[in-house]
Amino acid sequence: METPGKNNATPSTDLRRLWQAATLVRFGFAAGNVKSLVFKVPEWVKHLPGQHYDIRLTSATGYQAERSYSAASAPESEGVIELGVEFLEKGEVSPYLWNLKEGGKIEIRGPIGGHFIWTSEMPGPLVLIGGGSGMVPLMSMLRHYHLTDTSRRPIVFLISARSLDRVLYKEELEELMGKHPNLSVVITLTDEAPSDWVGYKRRVDSEMLQEVLAKVSGGMPMTYICGPTGFVEAVSRNLVAEGAAPHLIRTERFG
Ligand SMILES: Cc1cc2nc3c(=O)[nH]c(=O)nc-3n(C[C@H](O)[C@H](O)[C@H](O)COP(=O)(O)OP(=O)(O)OC[C@H]3O[C@@H](n4cnc5c(N)ncnc54)[C@H](O)[C@@H]3O)c2cc1C
Repeated sequence: METPGKNNATPSTDLRRLWQAATLVRFGFAAGNVKSLVFKVPEWVKHLPGQHYDIRLTSATGYQAERSYSAASAPESEGVIELGVEFLEKGEVSPYLWNLKEGGKIEIRGPIGGHFIWTSEMPGPLVLIGGGSGMVPLMSMLRHYHLTDTSRRPIVFLISARSLDRVLYKEELEELMGKHPNLSVVITLTDEAPSDWVGYKRRVDSEMLQEVLAKVSGGMPMTYICGPTGFVEAVSRNLVAEGAAPHLIRTERFG
């Protein structure tokens, strides 16, 4: 894949619908298998926590590949877009993004999405449930909460990961828990756990959801579930079976 073509922006068009050339300004690791990539675009548009962007790569022959990636950054991180990209060995786009160097360019369009959104203006407790890289948009919500909200509403972040090194943003989550006593982060490790691990060691099930939801007081929570399709469907089915109101559940499937 080559660097992108030109941005065809016209001043009158909604910036969110235009392909812009984005430049990688820094990168790091959100977890062992997820790179954190921070881009700058010529015309930055503030996103809402939970929204995503489309990425487009164009090869020398003109072949194009397009994928969606959620914003990990809070809208308050002005001027930049941070993504969290999981490496998929035989993937078309994610390995390319992993190999991008500082100064490298891709095309980006967005922000996109109007349903899987949470802002601190919304009332009530908050439950975030993420499987694998599904943690990415939930982190945008949590970062936004941290930067804007003084409500001390109960927040639970339930994370399902194969192993501890696949838990995204682990150190930052520990810091946030230290700053917000109302935030509980609960991790379940499905494949591999350290010998001294005292947390959950299985897939998210009804019993786990009951125990986790018991931490939330002060009314029915808004619940956001994100991850692979099977994960999202199983968790939302269990939640509804446990009595959660379907209209308070929002889901995002990564495919
Ligand atoms: C709204 C939305 C938001 C998203 N947000 C994120 C995000 O924040 N972070 C993130 O990491 N992902 C996110 N995704 C998923 C992302 O869009 C891509 O689907 C993902 O990165 C895989 O793209 P890829 O091109 O690397 O893999 P693809 O080429 O699409 O391949 C997908 C899978 O198929 C396998 N595969 C491909 N070709 C073959 C083959 N010939 N034989 C066998 N197996 C093969 C690959 O190994 C891989 O596992 C999101 C998706 C959606 C819809």
